[in-house]
Amino acid sequence: MAPKFPMPGLDAAKLRENALTSIRLGVEDFERCRHQEGDPARALSAIRNLFAGVLLLFKYKIAACVNDPADAAALIFNPPEILPHSNGDGGIEWVPVGKFKPTTIDVGTIQKRFETFEIDVDWGVIEKLQACRNHLEHLHPAHTLGEVADFVAELFPVLRDFIQTELGESPATILGDAWQLMLLHHNFFVDITKRCEEAWSEACPPEGMKPWLKECKCSKCSSTLLAPAQENLDAGDTVEYNDDRFKATCIACGHTALIAPLMVDALEKAHSYDPRDGGEPSVENCNQCGRGTFLIHEQSCLWCSAELEYTECEMCEEGLGQEDQDNGGLCSYHAYSYEKFMRED
Ligand SMILES: [Zn+2]
Ligand SMILES: [Zn+2]
Ligand SMILES: [Zn+2]
Repeated sequence: MAPKFPMPGLDAAKLRENALTSIRLGVEDFERCRHQEGDPARALSAIRNLFAGVLLLFKYKIAACVNDPADAAALIFNPPEILPHSNGDGGIEWVPVGKFKPTTIDVGTIQKRFETFEIDVDWGVIEKLQACRNHLEHLHPAHTLGEVADFVAELFPVLRDFIQTELGESPATILGDAWQLMLLHHNFFVDITKRCEEAWSEACPPEGMKPWLKECKCSKCSSTLLAPAQENLDAGDTVEYNDDRFKATCIACGHTALIAPLMVDALEKAHSYDPRDGGEPSVENCNQCGRGTFLIHEQSCLWCSAELEYTECEMCEEGLGQEDQDNGGLCSYHAYSYEKFMRED
């Protein structure tokens, strides 16, 4: 049933055309910024266009799910607020107030529409794309070409599956050259990622730190394409024991930096806490190896695998930390009580 209140017009074919144009422009911007030493304005423009294009394509899909153009518009434009009114008989009636808004639905609402229409998409990648766009809009957009390059590569399979499965079309046909460029870039990215992973396994990172090595990003351009420095590999260095000199080179921008601080940073970022919310640290410096890689709750170090001799208090079974190890298996409270008792005796 078509809604009976006035609403802005909707042209699904135009929506589709705008989506494809926006994606093409985004890929063009991306190509240009890659060849212009990472021009930050181009990087921002690439992400804006890609993000807008993907959302338009999603909206087109939603609009295409229904037969009546009025229904399509009702799904795409922000609906009027629905407020409770008295029905004059002690009950309430929920009535839309005002008109459909001239604005269209946002990412959150698109997601809800997809759920009710059973349209599948990898929202994780879309949310990352949105975060990347916000990050570029609000922070200084310099040094983020690597991040943009990562997203173009990640977006490729999402867009491919969506266009093939949900729209029943061929991405190469509807996106033309832009699609070929995305494909090349995606294949390059996947290939380099694989080669970097193989090279890192040769560099022997500590077992427990491997997941954090994967999270490392170039400190200059935020790319995840980091390779172990050839000189360290040639010298037979290992990340585990030569972290004071083991370096990583960024494939995207050529920047070189020590890998260990990037790994510890990635670990710390994932374990960040806010003391104002009553948060407590869950990672600290290891007493054995001195690195900031000791997981307090796990009672072990991710870098050197150090474990605690005493893991819980003999009296109250409370978990012990590195600082309790000199108490001979007691928590600080029971160690203090015991000492006081001995003194009084
Ligand atoms: Zn870089
Ligand atoms: Zn350690
Ligand atoms: Zn105790």
